[in-house]
Amino acid sequence: MENYLLKKTFMKIPLFDIDGTLVKTGSKLHEQSLIYAFKKVYGVNIDIEGLGIQGMLDNQHIIRVLSPRGLNDEEIKSKIKRMADASAEYFKEHKMQTQPEVLPGVKDLLERLKEKKIHLGLLTGNMEQIAWTKLERAGLKEYFTFGGFGNQAYQRVDLVYLAKKHLEKQLGIALSLEDFLIVGDTLKDIQCARDAKIKVITVASGHFDLQSLEQGHPDLNVETLEDRKVFDFILN
Ligand SMILES: [Mg+2]
Repeated sequence: MENYLLKKTFMKIPLFDIDGTLVKTGSKLHEQSLIYAFKKVYGVNIDIEGLGIQGMLDNQHIIRVLSPRGLNDEEIKSKIKRMADASAEYFKEHKMQTQPEVLPGVKDLLERLKEKKIHLGLLTGNMEQIAWTKLERAGLKEYFTFGGFGNQAYQRVDLVYLAKKHLEKQLGIALSLEDFLIVGDTLKDIQCARDAKIKVITVASGHFDLQSLEQGHPDLNVETLEDRKVFDFILN
């Protein structure tokens, strides 16, 4: 394996959020999958309005939805793996019902980063299996080899540490946190980067506009990933 990292270049390893950053889903399949799994695993009926809140981890959603319904943390967590499996099973079974739209500039950016042999990671609130299926449907799966996912932790910042660990394992070398940066579309992505003390690029292609994202003082803030500054920022 080509070990460019040891050449001490200044390039960063980007960790991409999925929804609103790489793709716009336009379907409710993710929500429907959670609703199906809530019923199957916990026997709880949820309507689609009971979900929501951008930038949350799927694990956080599950706790937020179930806690007010009288289930304690221990009870919830004991079945959370089954919840992830059931959601993924539903999502995969119905995946043809969703056709995520790749957001402007994404494909070109990923292609250029790939040419530079930069490892590309994911940092998403989505459960792992749902994340990969979404990317497969969008035609983006092949660009990514590792990540941190919403079923693997309860705090978003922990996904940074997990993603780092996964890549270190793949490459067989130690990396430092500053080697990574986050690319996301919400204030929660910014907060996550601040918590991990790493840099963050925000893109106004999701639920926040440029001005709202600016309030979180990202290191770079762009309208879409078509902006050439993104590539330059990652490379330097
Ligand atoms: Mg997002």
